[in-house]
Amino acid sequence: MQVVYSPAHLRHDPKFAIEQSRLLPTFEHVGRAEAIRETLQTDARFRFSAPSEWGLAPIEAVHDAGLIRFLARAWEDYQVAAGPTADVMPDVFYRPALRRGMGERGEPEAVQAQFGYWCFETTTPLTKGTYEAAITAVDTALTATQYVLDGKGTTYGLCRPPGHHSTSGMYGGYCFFNNAAVAAHHVASTTGTKVTVLDVDYHHGNGTQEIFYDRDDVQYVSLHGDPARAYPWNVGFADETGTGRGAGANINIPLAARTEDDAYIDALHSALEKIQAFGPSMVIVSLGLDTFFTDPISDLAITADGFERQGAAVAELGLPTVVLQEGGYDVAALGDNVRRWLIGAGA
Ligand SMILES: [Zn+2]
Repeated sequence: MQVVYSPAHLRHDPKFAIEQSRLLPTFEHVGRAEAIRETLQTDARFRFSAPSEWGLAPIEAVHDAGLIRFLARAWEDYQVAAGPTADVMPDVFYRPALRRGMGERGEPEAVQAQFGYWCFETTTPLTKGTYEAAITAVDTALTATQYVLDGKGTTYGLCRPPGHHSTSGMYGGYCFFNNAAVAAHHVASTTGTKVTVLDVDYHHGNGTQEIFYDRDDVQYVSLHGDPARAYPWNVGFADETGTGRGAGANINIPLAARTEDDAYIDALHSALEKIQAFGPSMVIVSLGLDTFFTDPISDLAITADGFERQGAAVAELGLPTVVLQEGGYDVAALGDNVRRWLIGAGA
């Protein structure tokens, strides 16, 4: 199986974040992608290649120009405005209720305030090389997608930073640009065919849902920890099914705590039936391994065997498939869990 990887992800190197009211070392760190790379490189089934450069146009097709501009210069601007800081996070969030009855003012002038305008939470530090890493993660997704479009079979993009929490106009949840959404839009818009994003990360991909919520050419199907008890809390409920032309093209399957392999595979099969009925030309998998039973920030109970069964179930669809890396935080097991998922998918 082809693997697309770039060491450019190392430039996004956050050290700490505020998570559940505690200042903690970041769960999303450079060691994650390196653990996956090291494991796959020891297995002859996987062939590595570097991403090609795609420029900003595919990102601009999905994300607000203001967000892209902000991410490109925010770290440097912040150093000038607020003094040397390695990891930058918002400390004041703009929320519309703050100006109730006074009208919108748009993006604040001060970079310190811009962080709370474009970011929705406190676990996603912006570091010196984050923008370059995020651009390369999109390039990785698009290059993997191009391999599949070219008929080279199921391909894995080792994207880091991940993407599925980034909306069209906000970043957060360890994500900056929505790699899977950029790839899905690219395929739908350049081929005129329908595409499905199947999200098996523990967390609901609120960004991907938001980006495609009113579209009928990109289906979003997600299995995830019920947002009644899990990040991203505000989005991901079963009654969110799409709007307008997109009505019915958004499918959320919230799962109970400690869901095990058999129940997960049952839920996945019902998701795959919905995908078959939609009739996409391609499936883009947002692959999270944070459903693993020892993941430090999640509460499902999937095993390594369960991951291989997931990959096999998706492969049974018989559709061109791109697999893009999202979450997974038990780093000691992460490489092998990815490997097992991809072996199930036909590696
Ligand atoms: Zn996740």
